Amino acid sequence: MDVSILIKEIKTYRELSAEEYVLLQRAYSFSKDAHSAQKRKSGEPYFSHVFQTALIIAKWRLDLPTIIAGLFHDTVEDTEKTITDIKKEFGDEVAFLVDGVTKISHIKYRGNTDQVETLKKMILAIGEDIRVVFVKLADRLHNMKTLSAIPVQKQRRIALETWEIYAPLAMRLGMSNISGELEDLAFPFLYPDEYVWLKNHVQEQYASRQAYLTRIESILKQELEKNTIPFVRIDTRAKRLASLYKKLLRYDMNVEGIHDLVAMRIIVPTVADCYAVLGIIHQLWPPLPGRIKDYIALPKPNGYKSLHTTVFCLENKPTEFQIRTQEIHEEAENGIAAYWAYHQGKGTKQYQKGQTIFAKQRDMEWIAQLKNWQKECANSEEFVNSMRIDFFKDRIFVITPTGEAIDLPLGATPVDFAYAIHSDVGDHCVGARVNGRMVALDHLLQSGDVIEITTQKNKKPSTSWMEFIKSSKAKKKIKVALKRLGLRDDHIPKMTEFKITYHDRVGILNDITAAIARMKINIVNVQFSPKNKNLMLIVCEVNEKEKTEKLVLKIKDVKGVKDISWTLGKN
Ligand code: MN
Repeated sequence: MDVSILIKEIKTYRELSAEEYVLLQRAYSFSKDAHSAQKRKSGEPYFSHVFQTALIIAKWRLDLPTIIAGLFHDTVEDTEKTITDIKKEFGDEVAFLVDGVTKISHIKYRGNTDQVETLKKMILAIGEDIRVVFVKLADRLHNMKTLSAIPVQKQRRIALETWEIYAPLAMRLGMSNISGELEDLAFPFLYPDEYVWLKNHVQEQYASRQAYLTRIESILKQELEKNTIPFVRIDTRAKRLASLYKKLLRYDMNVEGIHDLVAMRIIVPTVADCYAVLGIIHQLWPPLPGRIKDYIALPKPNGYKSLHTTVFCLENKPTEFQIRTQEIHEEAENGIAAYWAYHQGKGTKQYQKGQTIFAKQRDMEWIAQLKNWQKECANSEEFVNSMRIDFFKDRIFVITPTGEAIDLPLGATPVDFAYAIHSDVGDHCVGARVNGRMVALDHLLQSGDVIEITTQKNKKPSTSWMEFIKSSKAKKKIKVALKRLGLRDDHIPKMTEFKITYHDRVGILNDITAAIARMKINIVNVQFSPKNKNLMLIVCEVNEKEKTEKLVLKIKDVKGVKDISWTLGKN
């Protein structure tokens, strides 16, 4: 866990300037100090988790701000340090990344499959910058590797979330290696019996296939040398357990029917060499019809490129070969992370000058890949939804206190959120907390906000809400409710604004709003003065002088209320 390990890893792919060196040292000490009091369930210092996360990011060859964000990814959530501290010490870019990861960490998947697509998109939308998603994936990878260090009651939920959300997300980003690793780590926690069965049934198969491929390897090598086709290396790749399991489900659990249990992979210098090798293989052994796949000419939607062929090999055994270049190979393993690693040079220099380089450029390849993802949906029922959820432009994703994701149109307010939860919650909402802070009902929500709604039994929807709500669902429901109350939605009554000074105590807001509700007066908005924490503004639908004065007396009776003034007839 020494900073030198991290530095050594970074130096395998780039030089560190003197300033960067100092910066990294500072970040290391900052994180270590911040997490010093924390221990994991295993007794290990918590810092080891954030350090290993940063090390994984360095292994993916990402830039320095992302590595530093890895060191801080749990700091805001778990320690005394705030995002402002990080901003002050390490600048906007690192703070931006850390803030994104913190927001993503509020999302929790609890097995509701309807939510899977929304959650994946939400993670990308909140991330805004793809590097945020990289940090989250590195964090998840380390958590999965050390799942026993996490409380037992959380293990299954985390494994399920990994299986349903993060592994497929990594796959979408073309990070097939990470995706496969995440699945393999989650598999025994989710399917313990199947895991044991598989281990017992395929162990031998793996070993004999491996021995078989070693024989083929020497034949192939000779043939390539004879034809002077250069190759970087030939290796074998055993199919991952989790992916084997999924495939076996489609093959009646018959291991014999799986041709790529162990596949041979040939890495060559150029794309032309790939096709040359394919020719040689087909000269040696006859191909299985329909099993030649040219993903170089026609890459998979997630960007995967490779030539695949299955041939009747020695002893007539169907055997799969994968042929690709070194660069293609790295991209296939690490996907967008690899792409990022290749193209990050400039950003680092800008970072030294203290400028921010948020990777929002629409022209980046990953955006193209995400578009493919949407295109893919065109074949399924999800098409309509995915058109609606344009996750980069006009939708935002917010979170309930229990971690459920809610998608709303851009410009949505707490009232839209309340109606998205349930029409009862919408009809009776009086106030909202966003990220723990009280806000007005017309407050503009942002992706990643955690929202809590306060309701009051006697509260009715207000016609004035129609002016600021965004979602058609809320509009429709408010109209229905207003009609029921005999109000027209274009009838906007006069309002009165009350300024109340008070001594803070638990439950004071509740007592005040209850007093108002008892008089059958509608509350339109509750707001706390940002400058004076003992001042709140409440706007009510009340116009008559007499009724207003009576209400003032009632509010004055509430314990803790010091003073109240009002402006009649506000509209
Ligand atoms: Mn973490």
